[in-house]
Amino acid sequence: MIPRSADIVIIGAGAIGTAIAYHLARRGAGDVLVLERDMVGAGSTSKAAGGIRVEFPLKIEVEFSLRGIEFFKRFRDEMGAECDFRQEGYLFLLTTEADVARFRKNMAVQHALGADSRMIGPQEARELVPSMRVDDVLAAVWGPHDGYASPNDVVQAYAAQARARGVTIAEETAVTGIAVERGHVVAVDTSVGRVTTRLCINAAGPWAAPIGEMAGLRIPVDPRRRHIFVTDAFTEVKHPIPLLTDRSTGFYCRSEQQAVLLSAGDIGPRTEYTATVDWSMLEEAVRKAVNRIPALESAQIRHAWAGLRPLTPDEHAIIDWAPGVEGLFLAVGFCGHGFQHSYATGLMTAEWLLDGKPSLDLSDLSISRFGG
Ligand SMILES: Cc1cc2nc3c(=O)[nH]c(=O)nc-3n(C[C@H](O)[C@H](O)[C@H](O)COP(=O)(O)OP(=O)(O)OC[C@H]3O[C@@H](n4cnc5c(N)ncnc54)[C@H](O)[C@@H]3O)c2cc1C
Repeated sequence: MIPRSADIVIIGAGAIGTAIAYHLARRGAGDVLVLERDMVGAGSTSKAAGGIRVEFPLKIEVEFSLRGIEFFKRFRDEMGAECDFRQEGYLFLLTTEADVARFRKNMAVQHALGADSRMIGPQEARELVPSMRVDDVLAAVWGPHDGYASPNDVVQAYAAQARARGVTIAEETAVTGIAVERGHVVAVDTSVGRVTTRLCINAAGPWAAPIGEMAGLRIPVDPRRRHIFVTDAFTEVKHPIPLLTDRSTGFYCRSEQQAVLLSAGDIGPRTEYTATVDWSMLEEAVRKAVNRIPALESAQIRHAWAGLRPLTPDEHAIIDWAPGVEGLFLAVGFCGHGFQHSYATGLMTAEWLLDGKPSLDLSDLSISRFGG
């Protein structure tokens, strides 16, 4: 049984939906109900590589990252759980002058906010990852305080803390419709009946667009499949490898204890919401991996998974009220950075809903940038 009415209904129990629930509950926001058609974290969140970095182009994104890093550092104290936060660094390899210029511009934004990102030469980069080839590398960007954490531990902790403060999280409960009367949300329909509410938050990740359609809204979020492969324990490289991104191919990898987690950084066409593993992607991933770290040629792949990245046309998220539908709030389109920005998104959303406006300027994440 789920409640028949709620002050706030959140659709989706991924990192974003549960972080919003957590912050709303901390603020004593009334009856909050999270509707999840599967299980907590079962969507994109559990498929993420867990990467956390300050290397972003927008001021607001750097602000979100800085808040995220501080949160992950105090995670145990605040959440009463572990999240395996490891500040092993982020390293972007740049092989074109255009990229060097782009990253320099981004770094100016980062430095103005006190974020630590450094442009280093190829040899310095090689000292960080001795097994890699750098003959084509012009420069690298190094984020020494960046790293990764466990997305599943984090989403479960948000959910547990939200529940402990009175939030109801209904799993295996699919949203099937959003009732709008005279331009205002009045109810959310689910597989187990109707919930009346005046405030609904779309936090459905890659499924943000179909949820928007239920309220007659077009939301520019498009799911794209991405694969991750993990090797057996592999000691022919020096661990830990920081989160290494090869901008020339999109390939990225990092240590997963003594194994290597790697991805081709695939950016295939729209995938119609399927996230099964396509093993033909392994060849591309291995080719790109061996191109950068030749020793990986002898590594054995132990397992793989694929997930959907919820992409917007400009690859920045949308945090905003829905245009033309009163009572519908959007926290969607987090592309490849929704896990690391979940804490700040929850915080800002709770402020916006409860205080009337967020303490940071979120205008760069408004839906109006995509036009009518
Ligand atoms: C391979 C891969 C690697 C990634 N690596 C990183 C990384 O290193 N760092 C990072 O920060 N991010 C990373 N991401 C991105 C990150 O996973 C997403 O941005 C983030 O998880 C989005 O969280 P979310 O809560 O918006 O979506 P989700 O976690 O997908 O949650 C949305 C939820 O809504 C539910 N839902 C959908 N429709 C309905 C419905 N009708 N009724 C009820 N519930 C519904 C779904 O079941 C799902 O659980 C990666 C993504 C992929 C695929």
